[in-house]
Amino acid sequence: MKKKEELLSQVNRVISTCQKCRLWRTATNAVAGEGSSEAKVMFIGEAPGFHEDKSGRPFVGRAGGLLDNLLAKNGLVREDVFITNVVKHRPPDNRAPMKDESRACLPYLMQQIKVVNPEVIVPLGRAALEVFIKDKTITEFHGKAFKVGNRIVFPVYHPAAALRSSGVLRDLEQDFAMLRKVIAGDVTPEEVEIENGNQNQLKLI
Ligand code: URA
Repeated sequence: MKKKEELLSQVNRVISTCQKCRLWRTATNAVAGEGSSEAKVMFIGEAPGFHEDKSGRPFVGRAGGLLDNLLAKNGLVREDVFITNVVKHRPPDNRAPMKDESRACLPYLMQQIKVVNPEVIVPLGRAALEVFIKDKTITEFHGKAFKVGNRIVFPVYHPAAALRSSGVLRDLEQDFAMLRKVIAGDVTPEEVEIENGNQNQLKLI
């Protein structure tokens, strides 16, 4: 097995037995994430939902179906990208992850980013955006490319939000079309000022 795959498997093994917050108690499976260890693009959602919890795989429910379509329309396939979440166990009743849960889980995401080393990171929705750029709304920041460290962060709406609103779906489709250009290096990212606390965390990646 290649070195990167081995490292990812090691991270996955630790995630699968993680008890660092309360979420493992009510979850069926941990959902570490999946995709290519050589991925140039990493998509980060919020947390596993019902179907992901049952299957142990990210984005396999309705939101996942939409994500697959958006990938396909823009010449991408799941196997070539990496897909994961901020939080690796399902919060009960799909509630939003609590701050301490996200904080406890964040080192796993940082390790995944470090190993896969993607050029472009796509936070899907606010919870993932918050990891990179604090206290900003996804409404304001979606569809814009930012330079964070030596990577490009390109936030978009969460696919689940697009399933609830045709306006959001339109924006998400436009943003995915733009993502193609971001990946091709045809978009100059904005420099973003990052607060101190977040800066320390991002130095890790
Ligand atoms: N929503 C998410 O944020 N992540 C998943 O894996 C599925 C739905």
